[in-house]
Amino acid sequence: MAILLPSGVKQNIKLAPYTTYKIGGPAKYFCAAKSEDEIAEAVSWARKEGVPYFILGGGSNILVSGRGFDGLVVKIQNTTYNISPYGGSPAGRQHTKIEAEAGIDLPKLVKATIDSGLAGLEWASGIPGTFGGAVRGNAGAFGGEIKDIITSVRFLDENGGIKTIDNKDCNFSYRDSIFKQNPDYIILSATIKLEAGDGKALQKFSKETIEYRASRHPLEYGSCGSVFKAIDVNSMHSEDFEKYPRFRDLIKNDPFPVIPTACFIDEASLKGYTIGGATVSTKHPNFLVNYNNASSQDVSALINFVKLRLTDKFGIIAEEELQYVGF
Ligand SMILES: Cc1cc2nc3c(=O)[nH]c(=O)nc-3n(C[C@H](O)[C@H](O)[C@H](O)COP(=O)(O)OP(=O)(O)OC[C@H]3O[C@@H](n4cnc5c(N)ncnc54)[C@H](O)[C@@H]3O)c2cc1C
Repeated sequence: MAILLPSGVKQNIKLAPYTTYKIGGPAKYFCAAKSEDEIAEAVSWARKEGVPYFILGGGSNILVSGRGFDGLVVKIQNTTYNISPYGGSPAGRQHTKIEAEAGIDLPKLVKATIDSGLAGLEWASGIPGTFGGAVRGNAGAFGGEIKDIITSVRFLDENGGIKTIDNKDCNFSYRDSIFKQNPDYIILSATIKLEAGDGKALQKFSKETIEYRASRHPLEYGSCGSVFKAIDVNSMHSEDFEKYPRFRDLIKNDPFPVIPTACFIDEASLKGYTIGGATVSTKHPNFLVNYNNASSQDVSALINFVKLRLTDKFGIIAEEELQYVGF
């Protein structure tokens, strides 16, 4: 029997253009949801019909299968934000509250806060994707993390109810949150708290950060950024660790020692290692890039190859930061 589609749901939409890898087959159903109501309506339809669904932000942390996704992709496109004074803190500092919907581009939100002379989100300059995706994965860079500025998150729960929880209930940790642990929780919006800062200094920092990223990251190719999370040194056997003085030097004076996976990939001489159209970037070895019309299998085979090599050579288990879709 033909399935009755709600308004706004299209069929057979190619996903590759919606991802930064520029890889992936079609979604059977696709809905660009521009408001909370449209998100809730699309998800409720899928749940009622027993259609699998996937929540898509900016597509900057996913690898979509060449076969596509046999269900509904809900592209989160609610983009309103509001900047309002928060009042003085006990320390006498002025805070500002920003309520932002999940679908706003993170770079746009970062720019808006910097243009308003607000400090606290500038470290995120140059991170692609949506605000909601960044909250879900507790995005971070240069010592900053989303968890440090979130006050509360509003989300759709597994029963279609809307809840708001405070930062302490979000279970944030390194690239993790309660929303990642519960894929049926869909972030609708969140509130962050920033402090008054020096607008000119923030703008300079942001510009330099974006330039630094451009100099270190292979932005000319499709990618999802770093494929693997950093490695917790405590997970390594001490004899493996002792063999590589370079790693010892990296964690000197670090109370929570982690080593960027890029260092292990480099030490394993995997820079430039290629499978089909996917290659380990020579510029930043934790970027496994779409070098030449890579298929999703090329990328996933390369990821698996790198993981095996790192386990063989260093006894470590590299864990993916990216999410697989339709595999
Ligand atoms: C060049 C480059 C540089 C990068 N640098 C960094 C960096 O420095 N630091 C960093 O942390 N990351 C970095 N990333 C990775 C990526 O940008 C972040 O993980 C980003 O926050 C993902 O957001 P997104 O909207 O693109 O999510 P997507 O890729 O669309 O989705 C990722 C996951 O989040 C889920 N999701 C998305 N939106 C929601 C929502 N509203 N509610 C519930 N679940 C949702 C999806 O279902 C999926 O499981 C980089 C990526 C690239 C390509």
